[in-house]
Amino acid sequence: MPWYVLDTSLLLGGKDPPRDGSWATTPEAAAEVSPGGKDARRYDQWLAIGLQVRSAADTARDRVEEAALDAGSLGRLSEADLSLLALALDLKGTLLTDDHTMLDIALRLSILSRTVNSSGIQGTLDFRPRCTGCGRWFDTMPKREECTVCGSPVKAKPSRGAPAASAPKPPGPGTRPTRS
Ligand SMILES: [Zn+2]
Repeated sequence: MPWYVLDTSLLLGGKDPPRDGSWATTPEAAAEVSPGGKDARRYDQWLAIGLQVRSAADTARDRVEEAALDAGSLGRLSEADLSLLALALDLKGTLLTDDHTMLDIALRLSILSRTVNSSGIQGTLDFRPRCTGCGRWFDTMPKREECTVCGSPVKAKPSRGAPAASAPKPPGPGTRPTRS
């Protein structure tokens, strides 16, 4: 069963959860739910249908902070945001959020992510790295965020309808999660 890591806005937004996996969130994200009232009741319903509250390993949290520092967005991420990214990394799960800063960090760490909109959870990864020069799409962010073909900066772009990445992958250490 795949893991879905849910952010607070998703927990409270009344959206349909994906049914084909297990759901998790973090104590930091749960702490953003105000006690009493509608939000707390909705959160209790999530717990009743199987939401698990977990913390990520410190190593995962360190990798997320490093990536956010590199991206220059550490200051825009809350404790809850960082904890959710770390949990998704730790569980090799899919992060569900509409927060663009979180989606950008997820991309940098090869964490699978999905956005949520009014019609519910969307199909696949919505953001992929794209060269701002030649327009080439990549599966993972190239080293130094530079296009391996033309050397222009590569940025995360909405990728609906984008063609499959065609750039040759440089051999590198470590394993990448597959997106199948
Ligand atoms: Zn290029």
